[in-house]
Amino acid sequence: MAGKIAIVGAGPSGCYVAQAFLKADPGLEVDLIDALPVPFGLVRYGVAADHQGTKGVMRQFARIFERQGARFFGNVHIGRDVTLKALREAYDAVVLAAGLCEDRRLSIPGGDLPGVHGAAALTRALHEHPQAGALPALGPHPLILGNGNVAIDLLRLLCKTSEELNGTDLGPGPSAWLAGNAFEAITIVGRSPAARAKFDPVMIRELGKLGNVSIKVEGAGRSEEPEEQKRLEALAAIDGHGSGPLKVTFRFELRPLSVEGKDRVAGLRVEGPNGEETVRASSVLTAIGFDSNGDLDRATLLDEAGEREAGKLADGLFAAGWFRRGPRGTIPDSRTEAQATAAAILEEMAPDPARAGPAIFHKLENVVDYAGWQRIDAAELARSTPERCRQKLPSTGELLRAATQQDIDQ
Ligand SMILES: Cc1cc2nc3c(=O)[nH]c(=O)nc-3n(C[C@H](O)[C@H](O)[C@H](O)COP(=O)(O)OP(=O)(O)OC[C@H]3O[C@@H](n4cnc5c(N)ncnc54)[C@H](O)[C@@H]3O)c2cc1C
Repeated sequence: MAGKIAIVGAGPSGCYVAQAFLKADPGLEVDLIDALPVPFGLVRYGVAADHQGTKGVMRQFARIFERQGARFFGNVHIGRDVTLKALREAYDAVVLAAGLCEDRRLSIPGGDLPGVHGAAALTRALHEHPQAGALPALGPHPLILGNGNVAIDLLRLLCKTSEELNGTDLGPGPSAWLAGNAFEAITIVGRSPAARAKFDPVMIRELGKLGNVSIKVEGAGRSEEPEEQKRLEALAAIDGHGSGPLKVTFRFELRPLSVEGKDRVAGLRVEGPNGEETVRASSVLTAIGFDSNGDLDRATLLDEAGEREAGKLADGLFAAGWFRRGPRGTIPDSRTEAQATAAAILEEMAPDPARAGPAIFHKLENVVDYAGWQRIDAAELARSTPERCRQKLPSTGELLRAATQQDIDQ
C-alpha cells in the first residue's frame, strides 16, 4: 500500500513504530520528524553514559533508515516550525511519539527552592542535550529523592571516579563537573518500602562495583514475595560495600513533607515509621517521574481521546511510547506496543495520493536529513579519545555545522 506516515519523535518508540510499519509494508513512506538535529531521543540523552551496551540499540535503529527506507527530518519542531494541523493534512497518518521531557514537580513546601533539581534536567545536562541548562552546584551532601532506575543511574554517575568513567561518552564539561564535586555523602530516599521500590535489582548490584564509596542500607525490611525478595537480596548484597570516603545511604518509607532552607536547600523534612525528622541535604535531586512540557497539547489530546485502543487520539492521529502511556517502561517495552500501534493504523488507513507528505518541510531552514545525522555521528566518533568512545557536539550550532560538514571547531 502506498501511504504517507509521519512519526513525531525519533526516540525508541518512534523508531520501533517505523520499524513495524516498514516490516508490515516496505512500500510505505515513513518519515521520522524530531525537534533535535539528531535521532534516538533518550537513548542518546537519557540512558546513562556508562551504559554503552544499552545505547547499542542505536545500531538497530540505524538500520530502519539505512536498510528499510525510513526518512529523518531533524531540527523540525512540530507545534512550532510546523503545526500539528498542517502535518495531519500532509500525511495519511500521524503518530505522536514525542516522549515526556519535563521533571514532575516536587509539590511540597520548598519544592521550588534553589538547590532542588529534577533528574531529567540534570541528566540532560550531563549528557549534553543541546537545550540543557548549566550543571548546578550540588554541595557536599546531595539527596536523591526517588527509588527508580533513573535515581540509581544518577547516584552511580555521581559516585564514579574519573577512571570509572573511562569508556563512556561523557563530555569534557560534565567530566570536569563530576570530578570537581567533592561529595561527602549522598542519601537516597524512597517513599515506598524497599521491597516495593521500582529499581531493577541488577542496577542495585552494579553499585557493588563502585570503588570510592561506602554503602549503608537502612530499614530495608523483609518480604516473602519472590520479586520483592530479589530486590531485598540485591540491597543486602551492597549493604556494607566499600570503605571509600563517599558515604552512600539508602533510606526507605520516608514521606517528604517539605524542603527546608531559607535561601537554598538545607535539608528534607520527612515522615517515616519513627516519626518526623530532617535529613541533611545541600541539594535535592528529584527522580519522581516525568511530565509533558505542554508541547503538542498532550493533556487535551489524551483527555479527548479517552480509552481508545492502540493509542488512537482521533482519525489519523495516534500516540505511542511515553507520550501515550506516561513515563513508564523501558526501551524494549516500546517495541511490543509499536507493533500493535502500526497494525491498528494500517487496518484503518485510507491513503490519499494528493497529500503533500514531506514537501511541507521544504520551506524550513536547517532541516537535518539522515545523511546529515551520519555526518554528525562521524564527527563525534572522530573526536573520541582513549578514555571516551564518543564526544558529543554539545550545541545546536555545532550539530548543524557538522550536519553540513562545515568546520565544527570554529
Ligand atoms: C534518565 C533516563 C535514563 C533511562 N535509562 C534507560 C535504560 O538504561 N534502559 C531502558 O530500557 N530505558 C531507559 N530509560 C527509559 C527510556 O528512555 C524510555 O523508555 C524511552 O526513551 C521512551 O521512548 P520515547 O520514544 O517514548 O521517548 P523519547 O526517548 O523521549 O523520544 C522522544 C523524541 O521526541 C522528540 N520530540 C519531542 N517533542 C517534539 C516535537 N514537538 N516535535 C518533534 N520532535 C519532538 C524528542 O526530541 C525526542 O527525540 C531511561 C529514561 C530516562 C529519563
